[in-house]
Amino acid sequence: SRGLGDVYKRQASIGVAMFPEHGNSFKELVMNADLAMLQAKAQGGNGFYYFDETLEAQRVRQEYNLINDLTTAIIHDQLVLHYQPKYNANLQRCGVEALIRWQHPKLGLLTPHRFIDLAEKSGLIVAIGHWVLEQACKQIQLWQTSDFPLVPIAINFSASQFEHDELFEVLDELLEKYQIDAKYLIIEVTETTAMRNVKLCVQKFERLRQIGLQIAIDDFGTGYSSFSYLKDLPIDELKIDKVFVSHLDGENKKDEIILASIINLASQLGLIVTAEGVETEQQAEILIRLGCHQMQGYYFAKPMPIEDLAHSKFDLQKV
Ligand code: C2E
Ligand code: MG
Ligand code: MG
Repeated sequence: SRGLGDVYKRQASIGVAMFPEHGNSFKELVMNADLAMLQAKAQGGNGFYYFDETLEAQRVRQEYNLINDLTTAIIHDQLVLHYQPKYNANLQRCGVEALIRWQHPKLGLLTPHRFIDLAEKSGLIVAIGHWVLEQACKQIQLWQTSDFPLVPIAINFSASQFEHDELFEVLDELLEKYQIDAKYLIIEVTETTAMRNVKLCVQKFERLRQIGLQIAIDDFGTGYSSFSYLKDLPIDELKIDKVFVSHLDGENKKDEIILASIINLASQLGLIVTAEGVETEQQAEILIRLGCHQMQGYYFAKPMPIEDLAHSKFDLQKV
């Protein structure tokens, strides 16, 4: 309900970060430009600010504080898992993905992009990963003993967690403790992580599958996207990254052709194909037409706390 006058009064604050002096990667540059933008705002807005050493020091301090807070996040019960349902081509719920959130006492609910990298850098990711795994096992046990429809839970593994030696001990211990069937656990590893060390991945995947877990390659299409290594990886599911899905609008035939071939090839290799980031009914229709097996995205449901899952609107509509 803003009048035109208000629109003209709106101001822009611009932060500038330059390659290479302010960062070597896209991520670093955007983060530093963001900090500079906040600084421009803090100075009254309607101006610009160049990233500089003061901000660099501020960023390091913020990171340090956040890592410090993260060390006690588990014992203070601040981590939560949200669950996002996945649907098959008959629009039935066929699984959920567990996505971590951090209820920070001062900063509010933080999504993983704010803290997973820091957790990796500081080594805290191993304890956090253990926590996630245990929560998922607990949840499966609960479902096994209730009349809630039992579906697999997918959890995300980052590189160092995946390479950690104790992974299998922890897994054995948890499967024993919660008495759950391992087939209800899906481990998601990103394409980039898998590519970091294909040989090691093959070994770990084989061991995980021997125990009965399923393996999914996450964010497919954002890394090297090589089908020649896909055939060597002992995996069950391929999750096509949302960048491929977001362009689907019925007009863009070239994108459909690319997607169709990924879906075809992966199916031929015996993989379950899941599309991420499905936001519209039309995208879902196109994906089903192209033979995609599973879909996940805001069109169906956003990630939500466990208590909301039973009342998830899309599921109720289709019952
Ligand atoms: P991911 O595994 O690829 O998860 C999908 C991300 O896309 C989630 O972001 C989800 O909220 C978001 N998403 C779902 N549907 C849509 C949609 O329709 N449109 C758009 N634009 N986005 C959608 P989230 O929860 O912020 O997680 C980001 C990433 O953090 C995850 O990407 C995953 O790589 C990582 N992550 C999440 N939980 C964990 C965890 O427990 N451990 C580790 N190591 N990484 C985690
Ligand atoms: Mg994932
Ligand atoms: Mg993904």
